[in-house]
Amino acid sequence: MEEIFVTKPVLPPMEEYMKYLQDIWETHNLTNVGKYTRLFMLELMDFLSAKHVLPMCNGHMALEMTLQAMELKGEVITTPFTFASTTHAIVRNGLTPVFCDIRESDCTMDPDKIESLITDKTSAIVPVHVYGMPCDVEKIEAIAKKHNLKVIYDAAHAFGEKFNGKSSAKYGDACMFSFHATKAFNSIEGGLSVVHDTATLTKVYQLHNFGIMDEEHVEFVGANAKMNEFQAAMGLCNLKHFEENRLKRKDLFTYYRQRLSDIKGIRFLDYDEVRNEFNYTYCPIFIDKETYGMDRNELFEILSYNHVHSRKYFYPIVNEFNCYKDAGFRGETPIAKKLSEEVLTLPLYTDLRLDQVKMICDIIEANAKTK
Ligand SMILES: *Cc1c(COP(=O)(O)O)cnc(C)c1O
Repeated sequence: MEEIFVTKPVLPPMEEYMKYLQDIWETHNLTNVGKYTRLFMLELMDFLSAKHVLPMCNGHMALEMTLQAMELKGEVITTPFTFASTTHAIVRNGLTPVFCDIRESDCTMDPDKIESLITDKTSAIVPVHVYGMPCDVEKIEAIAKKHNLKVIYDAAHAFGEKFNGKSSAKYGDACMFSFHATKAFNSIEGGLSVVHDTATLTKVYQLHNFGIMDEEHVEFVGANAKMNEFQAAMGLCNLKHFEENRLKRKDLFTYYRQRLSDIKGIRFLDYDEVRNEFNYTYCPIFIDKETYGMDRNELFEILSYNHVHSRKYFYPIVNEFNCYKDAGFRGETPIAKKLSEEVLTLPLYTDLRLDQVKMICDIIEANAKTK
């Protein structure tokens, strides 16, 4: 029996990547912002309609260094319904996370709950476009403006998306994308810092290379977050196929939603496909135990038994991690907790076949209480 995993990294046709390898072998230029990293940067600027971008070794370091470059202090309002990286990037910058609850409709930060968390120590808001669902960017940015706060989006899930006709890269003061193997678009590992002014980009650039200004001057306590040429080459290859891959996933997602959203006790998030363009990397469904007839954990086990490996993504929420649960960070997040106990992320990736999606839907349908 064939095992189906929740995701499978996209690879370009091998001969396309080989052309880059041949050239790398000739030049021996492996890293340190080489010609492919610079070319990748230019192509991303064009693709994302963003003026100031910097490719890095991974998304986490891109977020950590972007936050560092913004010179924040004190408290940062964020969401616990995300990957560990978001909160780690805040804490590793010496900042204190404050957890804001999320909305049931799309799992993003609830803008109506932000203001009550703001104090005179708050310096920024770090919302997440979780599963590629757009945050309420207008409301969040209006609150930020009123209280003079920076907004840095964790856009790890939102590469290549458009919100209200505008590139997801253009919102906030800054944002970060992840090009990890499992994301919508990959450069093996990789990430991108996007900021909206030249001075901040210069600082991100210096930080990502140890804070070195020139041969005799080291200005900042930076680190090493440089992208290498093998990553950039993979990114250049995969970028050419992004749109065709996105449309393949869209067909699979659409099938899932048509088949499953009528089953009692199974809920999809609100995808406003008129206003937004999604990248369809995740297929989260929410299971209501009473109406569906079994809880999320039971369905997870039944799928596993049938060789379908879904994920409890995101469970547990970040403020329940061992490293944070006793840290005393502020913020009540009952909705995030409830949704983390209901969510199941179904297999969705470019090479997944429609017959596999049908088989997964058959299992979920067959186990429903009311058919
Ligand atoms: C993947 C991810 C990151 C980190 O990106 P890496 O490229 O894996 O370092 C950060 N935030 C979120 C929400 C992610 O899913």
